[in-house]
Amino acid sequence: MPKLNHLELYKVLEKTNCRQCGAPTCLAFAAAVLRGEKNLNDCPFLDKAVVEKLGGLTEPRRPERDDWEQALGELQDRIQSSDLSSMPDRLGAVWLGDKLAVKCLGKDFCVDQNGNMTSACHNNRWVAVPLLHYIIDSAGLEPGRNWVHLKELSGGGATWAGLFAQRCEKPLKELVDKHTDLFELIVDIFEGKPAAGFDSDISVVIHPLPKVPVLICYWKKEADLDSSLSLFFDSTASANLDVGSLYTLGVGLLTMFEKIVLTHGKRA
Ligand code: SF4
Repeated sequence: MPKLNHLELYKVLEKTNCRQCGAPTCLAFAAAVLRGEKNLNDCPFLDKAVVEKLGGLTEPRRPERDDWEQALGELQDRIQSSDLSSMPDRLGAVWLGDKLAVKCLGKDFCVDQNGNMTSACHNNRWVAVPLLHYIIDSAGLEPGRNWVHLKELSGGGATWAGLFAQRCEKPLKELVDKHTDLFELIVDIFEGKPAAGFDSDISVVIHPLPKVPVLICYWKKEADLDSSLSLFFDSTASANLDVGSLYTLGVGLLTMFEKIVLTHGKRA
């Protein structure tokens, strides 16, 4: 039986964007269900019979979860055979005597010699796999602030760019359209730095990982021109983190920003 995509799932929702499911919009809810982060039952307006009928069509995320568990386990095995205490300089991290503290968006994420991660940040599941990849495989190159789009990065950037635009940049643009204060929240909460010298209306640099900065540029709607948004990486990014993990970081950032506007944001 064919599986649903998020637009097909969106069609059966109320489309009132009432947020009772915890998602900012019905469209975000549909995408979250297919990412395995929300359950159909989280929308109180879906009829039980419809939930039952759709349940099997929204399951393809389960294998992804299994993949995630497997990837995490393999990375933890590799961490166990590494010497974390020798890595701080390469990673821009700090050795605390029994664990490595790596700053992620201004918050410390600590990883011990068994690959277990702790942080004061509650919603941190998305960062675990990219963080462990960064610890193990990063070349430790210093970013030179030569900003490029994902498609320009070696190691598969062109392959991932379409999905990245669809799953990260487009929904993030829609989120900023509705919550114009999101950039202020990013600066306040995640130690984002406003950036000058770009032709965009708003530009902010964040550090999801110490040597993997991300530049977010937003162009406001103007006359007949719709708004637009792009994420840029430093040209060293794929040496410090594999492109698949850069994609995961981008989608994880979107998920976190959606949660932030729910709790702190003002609507446009
Ligand atoms: S609960 Fe969520 S999915 Fe359901 S109508 Fe409200 S916003 Fe849409």
